[in-house]
Amino acid sequence: MFKNEMPLPYHLSENPKERENEIRSYLIGAKRLRIKNDKTSVDLTIHDKTTYKIVRQYTEPNLKGKKKIKENNEQLTFAQAVDFLMRFPGYIERRDPIDAPVCPYCHNRSVLKAVEGVVPTCYKWACVSCNAHVLCHQDTCIPMGMPAKPELRKLRKDAHKLMRDIMELNGQSPLAVYADLAASLNQSRKKTHMGIMNEEECREAIRHLLILKDKAKEKAEIA
Ligand SMILES: [Zn+2]
Repeated sequence: MFKNEMPLPYHLSENPKERENEIRSYLIGAKRLRIKNDKTSVDLTIHDKTTYKIVRQYTEPNLKGKKKIKENNEQLTFAQAVDFLMRFPGYIERRDPIDAPVCPYCHNRSVLKAVEGVVPTCYKWACVSCNAHVLCHQDTCIPMGMPAKPELRKLRKDAHKLMRDIMELNGQSPLAVYADLAASLNQSRKKTHMGIMNEEECREAIRHLLILKDKAKEKAEIA
């Protein structure tokens, strides 16, 4: 399914079903892909975890011989990127694979696994020696954070629930709630992300989120 070790460059299958599976596994496993044939080369770069930027390069004969043309204006969703690659004959190369996160508990490199019983397929990075894991963003194998054991996963879930409550009460975006949480914790916005917090940091974040939620409730009652 996940072909991180596939020899490069790889000629995509002619069989549509196989070809689609290959394309999906390539897209899921890389931040940057190149697909090319003798006329054109196309680079797909994952943009904001959900869309792909496309840069197309090809040569055209002109008076002086050949002219290199570079087009850089397309942005595709995962489904559109699959569709685009289905219609593009050629070789595919993974240019920038996604690194497996290191388990913060036992320092092993985690391995990619499909989450059982979920359609469409969703992935997680799991530690091979303890039960820590982290889910991936949809249609990618980009981890949502650091692998976590059950207790930390529960804390992250609780914190996210509180964040959603605050978003609803204040009519705020997730980014705005994170900004308020960072200010409340008196730390940088960059450090304030549930996916990278350990158990202790997550408990501290929950304490602050509870205070923010109380404030939001008071405000909502006055209004
Ligand atoms: Zn581990």
